[in-house]
This record gives sequence, structure tokens and C-alpha cells, in this order.
Amino acid sequence: MSTKQNVQQILNELPEGVQLMAAAKTRTPAEILEAVDAGVQIIGENYVQEAERAYAIIGNRAKWHFIGHLQRNKVKKAVRLFDMIETVDSYEIAREIDKRCAEIGKVMPVLMEVNIGKEPQKSGVLPENTAQLVKDISTLSNIKVMGLMTMGPLSENPEDSRPYFVAMKKLFAKMKELNLPNVEMKYLSMGMTSSYQIAPEEGANIVRIGTRIFGERKYP
Ligand SMILES: *Cc1c(COP(=O)(O)O)cnc(C)c1O
Repeated sequence: MSTKQNVQQILNELPEGVQLMAAAKTRTPAEILEAVDAGVQIIGENYVQEAERAYAIIGNRAKWHFIGHLQRNKVKKAVRLFDMIETVDSYEIAREIDKRCAEIGKVMPVLMEVNIGKEPQKSGVLPENTAQLVKDISTLSNIKVMGLMTMGPLSENPEDSRPYFVAMKKLFAKMKELNLPNVEMKYLSMGMTSSYQIAPEEGANIVRIGTRIFGERKYP
């Protein structure tokens, strides 16, 4: 199956209102462009440098979301390049994003990355600390909190992901109820190749798909 056919199939499968992101790590700009030409409107990048290379070719033909672990020394470049940062999990990194955005007169939409499975090695804010983090970040004027994102524990069986998606949906609703100024709980980003059919059933409105679009990765 070609990238084009894969994208078209996924777009047909996804319920209305669910946005498809192509998770582009390790793919060449030409491969990513193929996905965009087939109808992908959001590209997810894990590394700022890879994103710069792809952006040079693809530019504003798609929106660019950062989905990797953001290091402080990469924030200055990242805020210029990306339309959304999905992986904010600390006040410190939010402060840096806010500061760098202020310098260029930009307000960055961000999602909170939640470690919903409470996995020790994984990044993301713990579910019980999410409300406080959202409150703290909502005071920063060059950042706008627009939702939540999660990876969730990986598993062969997609049904294993469902309870984590349900927990995310509950947390998302709770954050919405807080009704914080400068916070708009609009996006719930969850579901990957193994689980993108299930995630929208539990409230996801952005799914992030790599393998199912581009094929197996040669390196992780
Ligand atoms: C790689 C990646 C994905 C997509 O993974 P696939 O299983 O290849 O679909 C989604 N989200 C993030 C944050 C990723 O790094």
C-alpha cells in the first residue's frame, strides 16, 4: 500500500471532527510531502532539527505540531517553527516557551502531556498534578492551554489502551469544568497506529499516526 492510499483509508475511517496527524519521525521530507498531498493537514515532529529540514520543503502546506520531549535549549527554534506544542509537562518548560514567544510576539497553543499510566520512565505530568500545572501555566500570557495529550502504555492489544483513554477523557472533562481564564480545553490528542480506531470512541479528536501511514520504521 502506498502512503497516499494509507492516508485516504485512514481519513475515510476516522469519524467526523477527528483530525489526523502524520507522526513523521525518521521519515524524509519527500515521504512527508506525499502524506500532505494525500490530505494530511497536521505533521507531528519529535525533533526540532528534523522538523527544520522538512519545513524547508513543505512549509505552510500543513500545520506543525511538536510531539517530542522538548529541551530548553531548543525552545527558541521550536516556537518559531511550530503551530502547537503538544508535550508541555512542567512549568519550567512552559516559562521558557512563554519567554521565547514574547520575544517574537506569538501566542503558542499548547497541550499538556499526561503520563496517564504513571509509568516511571515516561515524560508527562501525573494525572493528579495536571490541574495545578494548567492553573500555573494559564497565567502566562504568551501561551494558551488548549487541551491534553497522552502516549499511554504501549501494548499489542489495542483494547488494553481503552481504560487509559477513558481516564484521559475524564481528566479532560474535569479540566474543562475548572473554567480557567485563558484556557480552552478543545483538543484531546491520543491514539497511534495500534489504537487510533479506539481513541476517538473515547473522545480523542487528534490521532497521531506514523507506521500505519508510512510503513514500519527502520529505526525507532
Ligand atoms: C511515533 C509517535 C507516534 C506514532 O507512532 P506509530 O505507532 O508509528 O503510529 C505518535 N505519537 C508520538 C508522540 C510518537 O512519537
